[in-house]
Amino acid sequence: MPSSEPIELTSLDLARCRSWPYSQDHCVTCGLCASSCPVSGVDGFDPRKLIRLISLGLDEAAAESRWPWICTLCGKCENACPMEIDIADAVRRVRSLRDRDQVPGILQQGLEAALEAGNNLRLPTEDFIFIIEDVAEEVAEEPGFEGFTAPIDKKGARLLTTIHNKLVNTHTEDLKHWWKIFHAAGEDWTISSVNWEGTSWGYFTGDDRAIKTMAGRIVEQMETLSINTLLWPE
Ligand code: SF4
Ligand code: SF4
Repeated sequence: MPSSEPIELTSLDLARCRSWPYSQDHCVTCGLCASSCPVSGVDGFDPRKLIRLISLGLDEAAAESRWPWICTLCGKCENACPMEIDIADAVRRVRSLRDRDQVPGILQQGLEAALEAGNNLRLPTEDFIFIIEDVAEEVAEEPGFEGFTAPIDKKGARLLTTIHNKLVNTHTEDLKHWWKIFHAAGEDWTISSVNWEGTSWGYFTGDDRAIKTMAGRIVEQMETLSINTLLWPE
């Protein structure tokens, strides 16, 4: 005889049920995700439809469609979902179903460059250091920041920060905002001269092994520099 005792779910069980591949069972097709999604409607994309595809067992069809690549993985839909379904994670898992040579070019190229060179720009270390020092000199010319420098590979610093690749490419002004805050706060911080890339290209391409590799490199650098705190703005 089946037991009539209620099954008690732990918070871990519930979290698992709301994640891939169980999340579809909880969808009530309310559409709140679609109404909160900033890219809903682009090429017919709708997170509710994507979740329904998965719930119907059509994972492969979902993986072959363009929809998972339209999603920005912003997670806004999850805040709206009354069933607390981890929609962005489902999207990422669907991306992982694609053959790697079918991943959209710009993302896969970014990942391959980041894995090979430590950053998706394939920027050599000496060029990276030149840019960092150049921007730091500009900060030092501003009132209140005289003598400012951007510490690179400072052993024993309190905090290591990663950098988004565009901040050493087209948006160097944005580096200054972070640095000025550190300066004003009296923070003991540093930047790594290698593997400084903060963008997890494995996350965007649905490649868990690449996520682990890139995150592992950052941890290795923290160990090398004897740093316990990481600021990972991405
Ligand atoms: S995570 Fe994707 S589906 Fe959800 S709101 Fe953001 S873009 Fe839309
Ligand atoms: S908000 Fe959640 S429950 Fe509602 S349609 Fe979207 S995924 Fe389903």
